[in-house]
Formats: sequence, structure tokens, C-alpha cells
Amino acid sequence: MGNCCCCRSSADPKTKYGNIHGYPVYKTEINTDVIRAPTTHAPASKLPKPIHPVIQTPVTPTRPKIVVGVYKYEARDSQDLSFDKGDRMEVLDESDQDWLFVEHLITGHKGFIPGNFVAPELSVESEDWFFENISRKEAEKLLLGDESQPRGTFLIRPSEHNPNGYSLSVKDWEVHRGYHVKHYKIKPLDNGGFYISTNKTYESLPELVLAYSKNALGLCHVLSKPCRKPEPTMWDLAPTYRDKWEISRDEIQLLRRLGRGNFGEVFFGKWKNQYEVAVKTLREGTMSTQAFLQEAAIMKKFRHKRLVALYGICSEQEPVYIVQEYMSKGSLLDFLRKDEGKLLEFEDLIYIAFQVASGMEYLESKQLIHRDLAARNVLIGENNIAKICDFGLARVIEDNEYCPKQGSRFPVKWTAPEAIVYGKFSIKSDVWSYGILLMELFTYGQVPYPGMHGREVIELVEQGYRMPKPTSHNLPDEIYQIMLKCWDTIAEARPTFEFLTHYFERFNVTSEVPYREVPD
Ligand code: ADP
Repeated sequence: MGNCCCCRSSADPKTKYGNIHGYPVYKTEINTDVIRAPTTHAPASKLPKPIHPVIQTPVTPTRPKIVVGVYKYEARDSQDLSFDKGDRMEVLDESDQDWLFVEHLITGHKGFIPGNFVAPELSVESEDWFFENISRKEAEKLLLGDESQPRGTFLIRPSEHNPNGYSLSVKDWEVHRGYHVKHYKIKPLDNGGFYISTNKTYESLPELVLAYSKNALGLCHVLSKPCRKPEPTMWDLAPTYRDKWEISRDEIQLLRRLGRGNFGEVFFGKWKNQYEVAVKTLREGTMSTQAFLQEAAIMKKFRHKRLVALYGICSEQEPVYIVQEYMSKGSLLDFLRKDEGKLLEFEDLIYIAFQVASGMEYLESKQLIHRDLAARNVLIGENNIAKICDFGLARVIEDNEYCPKQGSRFPVKWTAPEAIVYGKFSIKSDVWSYGILLMELFTYGQVPYPGMHGREVIELVEQGYRMPKPTSHNLPDEIYQIMLKCWDTIAEARPTFEFLTHYFERFNVTSEVPYREVPD
């Protein structure tokens, strides 16, 4: 028991990572058995949602739950609190994980704070180098996307394959490869602790980081500095809007027209003259406000980093405004056709394909159907971040033009035959559309079935015709085969989005050894 890292005094740095479900566990005089919890080093993301420690650890019934700022946050309305990176706050109510109610331990002020801007004090999640929810591909993008980050820049993330393990991703440089990322497995020991190479074990991740920061010990490079962390998405404009969709119209300033959508104009604007938003205006009669309000309530609940966040709506007057997260590079379709998009490399296209599949995988898991998945409904932000928009919207459109077979605006070329013919929309008809989106992506925004009219496409596709592999672009056969699978006549035979996410996630690594062990 004496060696248990969880039981040392808080002055001892090794105490730091004694935690249960992401919350620190301290030595008590009463019963130390509870401290031997086997889950000490499991990533919080893979554990059940934390229950209040009063229930979990009866020996510390009054121990306050403390969180620390992982990012700086500035209050946006009267209900929330500003804090700096590193500030400590006591959690008073965590019934809404997106907005924790806390007391700031320096100022004594109480208020709401966004849950994804903080982490439990002394937890691994509060470390600058720990990235909780990112995949291997995203790790590469973060490490390579910022050229100012030197060789040896690194991050640690929960392993995608080993529930108790982690992965260390390090930016490296070699003459023949230029900058690239190497990934190392961090394996857990049965009795707690970690190792990369069996001959050097560490009691905690910070110890491991410290050791490899002093000496490469067989890694490609000594760990030089933590990778820069992008700020998390704000799911609501402010805590006032956490359960409320209606935004006061005079708080929204429309500043610049971004484009014309099917149902009205889209603007870049600001909320309270400060925070960037995109505002879609809906032409009168496009949809019943009542139906849209219901849909908005659902859409607001679907939160994923690959879905554009819906902040709220202004529905008390026409035209209705839909207020969303602003994506600086606009729609994927426009982006692909413009200069910046044309310069995208194959690797970037794979990254976009992965992100869209990942957002759709989330909708698949929630049994929500998009119905209008296409490059025009994917938005691009900085660093080629892609997010799906307009999910759920297609259902509430009351426009005849949008109905199958009747209207000119119905996206025939993107829609699966069973959805066109029988109106049978499903996640599998979304998979079909995803296949078309892949063709748009890998041809840099070419119109699908070039030169063909909608009716012709319907007939030919019914007869078994599929778009051929384009000769103009260097599309690997393997990816074309995936498109064909998405266009299987039998809906059930099409791949799942879960499969597609993993496929594109690992696409360019199939030919290389995923992890290189550090030599003993
Ligand atoms: P609709 O769904 O009404 O047809 P779109 O979603 O196609 O409208 O939007 C039209 C254009 O407005 C898009 O091509 C894109 O350039 C821009 N746009 C839409 N939403 C956003 C957003 N959230 N951030 C930035 N630009 C956007």
C-alpha cells in the first residue's frame, strides 16, 4: 500500500494522478482501501460519466470537487464567470455537464462555466500535452498544421485500441520525408504505471513525459513542447441559451452577405457586436415556424465536433433567423473550386473525407438521418476543419420544390434510388450521398454525373449505371471501390459510417507500420 502512488501527500508530485473517474483521490485516515481503485489511470473519456465523489468515495464525503481552467474564458452574459488558464474553481452543480455551476476560488464569484474549458484539478486531462478526444489523424493535423511548432512537439491521447493505454504523437523531421509524425504506444502496467519501452517504466504519465523531455531514450526526438491546443467549440452562445433557442433579434448584427442558400440569404454577423456567428435567413413560407422550432430543439441537442453548432433562432418575426457557428472558409463545394481548395493535397482530401464520415457516424449512432448530405452542406473552417451542416433541416422544409420527383431543387444526383422512388430515406441513403460527396471531393468539386440531367440519372442508376472512375484526377482505385460500395443497390449492403470513419482515418497508414517500438 505504501507504494501506491495515490496515497502520497499532495506535496509529492506522484499523488497527482491518483484519481477515480477523473477526480483526484486523497489519502484519508479512515479507509485507504478505496484509494486502490483499479481505474486510476484509465482515460476519463472511456469511463462512465463521473458521479459525485460523495457517492463514489464515501471516505471523503466533504471533499470539494475542484476544476482548473485549461483555456482562458471570458464571460458573455450575466450568468457566467471569466477565468484564466490555471484558475481553480469549486464545482457546486454539475447536473449540466456543458455548463458547470462553480465558485471561483480567488474571486469568490459564482456562475456558470463551459465544461469543456476546464478539467478536474490534478487530472491528466488538465495537462497541456493531454488531448482527450482526438484521433491519430487529427493528432497529425494539429502537429503538422502549425509550421511554427518545432521538431519534438508532442501530445498524448487515449489509445484508440487499448482501453487503458495511450499514444504519444511526436513531430519529427527527416531529410527524405520532411516533417511527419511518429506515434508510440504507451502501454499500461498491470500494477499501475506506464512504459513505451519495456526496460523503462514510469509511475505516471507526467513522469514519463519528464523523462522523455530530458532525453530521447530511443524516441525519434526528445519531447520539446506540448502541441498547441485549439479552443473547444462553444455549444451555446452563453449559459442563458443552454435551454433556450430564441435569441433576441436586436442582439444579432448582420454584417456581410456570405451567400444565397436554397431558402434565403446567409450572412456573417456578430452576436452582441462581439462573437462571430453565421445567420441563415429563411424566406417566408419556407417552413412552418412551429415545425422548425421542434426541429431546432432536436438539432441543438446533437453536439459533435464535426457538426456545425446551432446556437439558436430568432423566430418571433419574419424572416426567421437561424444562428449558427461561423465557418470561415464557407461551403466545401465552393472551397474545392477556389484557389485554396485547388491546392489541397490528396492527404487533405482524405482528412476531409474522414471528418465528414466521423460526423455522420455520430448521426448514425443517434439514428438521425441527414437526407441532404453533399459537399454544399459541409462547411470548412481554419486548418481544413470540416463540419456537416443542415442536418435535420431537410425534414421540415415545406417547399414542394424539395419533394422527390416534383421539384427542381431536389438533389436527385445525391439521393439513393430507394429514397427517390419510394421516399425511403435512411442512414443507408445517407451513405449513398456520402459516396457522391466523395466523388465531388476527389474531383475538386466537379458536378456529379457531368453533362447528365436528373431524370436521365434516375433512369440510368435504376438500370445499374454508376459514375465511372474519373480519368482526370489521380483517384486511387481503392477509394473508387469504396464509392461503389456506397452505391450498392441493396441499401443494407452499403458500409456503415463507422466503417467509413475508420477506413479514412487509417487510409494512408495501411502501408506503414502504425507504431514503431522504441528499441530496447
Ligand atoms: P441553404 O441550406 O439555405 O441552401 P447554405 O447552407 O447552402 O444555405 O448556405 C449558403 C452559403 O452560405 C454556403 O455556400 C456558405 O458559403 C455560406 N454559409 C452557410 N452557413 C455558413 C456558416 N455556418 N459559416 C460560414 N458560411 C456559411
